[in-house]
Amino acid sequence: MLNEFRQDLVSGEWVLFATGRAKRPHADENNDVADKEYKSIQNCPFEDLKRSGNEPVWFYPNEADWRIAVIKNKFPAVKPGVCKQATDFGPFSIQEAVGFHDVFVYKNHDQHFADFSQEEVVEVIRSYKRRYREISESEGCVRYVLIFHNFGRDAGASIYHPHSQIISMPILPPDVSRSINGSYNFYKEHKERVYDVLMKWEREHGNRTIYENDLFIAFCPFVSKTPYEVRIFSRDSHAHFEKMPDEFDKYLADVLLTVLKKIRQALGNPPYNLFVHTAPAETELKSVHEFYSWHIEILPKIKIDAGVEMGTGVDVNIIDPDEAAELLRNA
Ligand SMILES: [Zn+2]
Repeated sequence: MLNEFRQDLVSGEWVLFATGRAKRPHADENNDVADKEYKSIQNCPFEDLKRSGNEPVWFYPNEADWRIAVIKNKFPAVKPGVCKQATDFGPFSIQEAVGFHDVFVYKNHDQHFADFSQEEVVEVIRSYKRRYREISESEGCVRYVLIFHNFGRDAGASIYHPHSQIISMPILPPDVSRSINGSYNFYKEHKERVYDVLMKWEREHGNRTIYENDLFIAFCPFVSKTPYEVRIFSRDSHAHFEKMPDEFDKYLADVLLTVLKKIRQALGNPPYNLFVHTAPAETELKSVHEFYSWHIEILPKIKIDAGVEMGTGVDVNIIDPDEAAELLRNA
């Protein structure tokens, strides 16, 4: 079984090979029978965690009455192990896929994120921060930690039961490395954080703002890569999500819930991917907070990448972000 990162010789970008994940449950067929099976509580591995052979990490608030269970992913893309330097294989660099891959399982089979109460979302945010800190503080090999939530089969949620995931990597992922370098270069050139410029401009030209409260703003970016893409930024932002003060959690929960409900209402409950982009867990850039800001991205899955995107890396967006924001704002 192949489980390693290989670095592309031309672009320098890492690709993760995790052939064990081919065994995880998935329903390829898209018809009523497959859909019924996908949603069925009888087949759900998250109803009885023990019986399904899941290995717990911790429960919130406790094992007997848990509302959030953190478990090890049964089909991890990275595995615990001894941290080693990247090795050469001919002209290539290879890094063993050492890391953590956990799942946050939420109690109710049919209660999706958009249906959580604000208090429940606060518990989720707090659990994200706690597990992030535990993983990032563990021994070596944790260069980046990603928290993400897939909703719907077409967004890659192989299990219907509501859950989020957290994964650590021993390498800096290409998207993160581009953002870190880009925001660092912007700061060097303009002496301003690119995220402050973005937020200020979005607030002054409020066409794309969907919702804001005292601490957070949600908008469709002027340069949205995909239709109805939403970004959530903190007005009092920090580079590290896990260092966000607990007083902020209820404001973040408010903006998250509002946006998810709007997406569901305006777009007819589409599948989506949600992720937290935060500064690398391990970086030689001590000044990262001066130029980088953590944020959340929500990408409803409305279109499929085709030839132009695959061949050029240029995203083709068929929806004007101003119109996307207007639709979501008014939902
Ligand atoms: Zn379930």
